[in-house]
Amino acid sequence: MFHVKRTFEEYDIIVVGGGHAGVEAALASARLHKKTALVTLSKTSIARMSCNPSIGGLAKGHLVRELDVLGGEMGRAIDKTGIQFKLLNRSKGRAVWSPRAQADKRKYATYMQNILSSTHTIHILEEEAKEVIFSGNCVQGIILKNGEALYGKAVILTNGTFLQGLIHIGPIQIAAGRYGELPSLGLSDCLRAAGFVVKRLKTGTPPRITRRSIDFSRMIPQFGDSNPEPFSYVTTHFEPKNVPCYLTHTHENTHDILRRGLPRSPLYNGSIKGKGPRYCPSIEDKIVRFHDKSSHQLFLEPEWEGADQWYVNGFSSSLPIDIQCKALRTVPGLEGAEFIKPGYAIEYDYFPSYQLRHSLETKDVKGLYFAGQINGTSGYEEAAVQGFMAGVNAARALDNQEPIILSRSEAYIGVLIDDLITKETDEPYRMFTSLAEYRLILRADNADHRLWNIAQTIGIQSLEHCNTFKKSFDDREMIRTYFKHHSCPKELFSTLSLGHSDRYDHLIKKQILRQEHLPVLHEHLFPDFQTHSLDQAFIEILYEGYIQRQRQMVEKMRLLEDQQIPSTFCYDSIKSLSNEGREKLKKYRPETVGQASRIRGVSPSDIQVLLIYLR
Ligand SMILES: Cc1cc2nc3c(=O)[nH]c(=O)nc-3n(C[C@H](O)[C@H](O)[C@H](O)COP(=O)(O)OP(=O)(O)OC[C@H]3O[C@@H](n4cnc5c(N)ncnc54)[C@H](O)[C@@H]3O)c2cc1C
Repeated sequence: MFHVKRTFEEYDIIVVGGGHAGVEAALASARLHKKTALVTLSKTSIARMSCNPSIGGLAKGHLVRELDVLGGEMGRAIDKTGIQFKLLNRSKGRAVWSPRAQADKRKYATYMQNILSSTHTIHILEEEAKEVIFSGNCVQGIILKNGEALYGKAVILTNGTFLQGLIHIGPIQIAAGRYGELPSLGLSDCLRAAGFVVKRLKTGTPPRITRRSIDFSRMIPQFGDSNPEPFSYVTTHFEPKNVPCYLTHTHENTHDILRRGLPRSPLYNGSIKGKGPRYCPSIEDKIVRFHDKSSHQLFLEPEWEGADQWYVNGFSSSLPIDIQCKALRTVPGLEGAEFIKPGYAIEYDYFPSYQLRHSLETKDVKGLYFAGQINGTSGYEEAAVQGFMAGVNAARALDNQEPIILSRSEAYIGVLIDDLITKETDEPYRMFTSLAEYRLILRADNADHRLWNIAQTIGIQSLEHCNTFKKSFDDREMIRTYFKHHSCPKELFSTLSLGHSDRYDHLIKKQILRQEHLPVLHEHLFPDFQTHSLDQAFIEILYEGYIQRQRQMVEKMRLLEDQQIPSTFCYDSIKSLSNEGREKLKKYRPETVGQASRIRGVSPSDIQVLLIYLR
């Protein structure tokens, strides 16, 4: 227990942690006119990318687009500081196209630090939060390491990988939050003592090596798109750099060295207790799990433009340094690799997220919110969207407004938060398109059309931009209606070299009228509309059957989602619930029948019983 020296200023909202969750939480809170304190261990590490120098990617790109429409900063920041942009999965269906950018991680962090320091309602304190102050079941503030108390009406914790952080490099263990940064000790003990469940997870990162030690001539350069798209809907004048990354690969020699090192791996000798991400395995994990593969791809990525420090994507490891080094030097182009930092694994405390409401407020302590890695997620984008939603909902609660809860059919953000709250995670959770059941509705290209009205309700995005999104949506609908009622005229028909004339929607569905014809349609039929609206009308018609089916499923589910369960509901009084169903319902305490139906262990017959009792 700390001796409280004196009381400090009172804030509306205190955000602890200046990572990707903390930055968005503080900005959202301040932009909703709340007096905000951002307490973080180091001002210069605000918005630091702990691992890969990139933003977006599969499903993560969707999250960034949604955040951008709602008024978050990540999309704008990467548009200004990215050094290579690419739309992934272009050869597949539209639902899984995802934007990704290679970041200049120094410029990215500086951009965010400048935005924060120029927001006058944010007070940045370089300090460590040691305890949370409670009053009954309400939060009152935090106690800092220097002994001062900081009072606030709401507290948002976004401590990332820092809570009791422990780095592993072979037999070496270092107490740290990230390489070269001290851990946060004590805060998770304070929350455990207050009744929160705390568990351990693990993640890892690859070595960073010097540019001069890489022989790029033995690798294949990988460029971004020559005609790139920005992340943000409000970015103008977008002419980013196109700095290449380089592709190489491991081979049997590499694998032999790694295999021989396994007894010294903290992952395999039992030193690491926390579970790591299955989808993002270390190189030693890959050679064990995929033992029949003779080669794995490695991407060499600069950490900033002109960087001397390069990231070896695909070679995450916690093996001893001598093994990492020996194995990496068998890879074509890396024979002379010089290490700046070794790869390492880190174990840290997190709070299983069934302890949260969908607003990200904790169920048991009013005004206390958790966001980011401490909820068991992994990734900058997953952290950023949670931070934003926690910031918005904490601010709304202070104004006695209902929280903003995005549904699974409205946004990937809704899928992510709903998964966190209704499913137990025992490994770091990252977003995938396969986790969204309404993928065709939730495309990265239509985030503005899906969310403009929610952005307006939140009130962070400017009215001017909300109006632009709405107009684009209305235009899409107008074009769609036009396509359903008009046939392609003869003259346009021959310009497009189509086989035979028909109604536009029929031509689109039969894939006679294709994406590459859109510029001609734009010029002849809709010169005053944005190409984006035309493109969206085209997709909506192309996938109409599937989209309609998904919308029908959404409607069916809505009936369950609308059925509220009182927080005081007594499951023990319903004898006809299955034992497992009752235990899970008591543990997760779902707010709606829809949420209850997604909890593993709650059967369809439990849901029927619940519905009868609620009626
Ligand atoms: C080694 C490593 C490997 C990773 N690998 C991957 C990967 O492969 N893929 C992937 O998607 N993601 C990876 N990540 C995760 C990614 O970095 C995080 O998901 C993301 O940064 C989480 O954002 P956050 O805001 O929750 O926390 P962080 O970015 O970790 O930020 C936490 C912030 O809280 C501050 N802080 C902590 N405790 C206190 C305190 N008590 N008082 C004040 N300030 C405090 C810190 O200074 C920091 O600013 C990795 C992270 C690490 C460290």
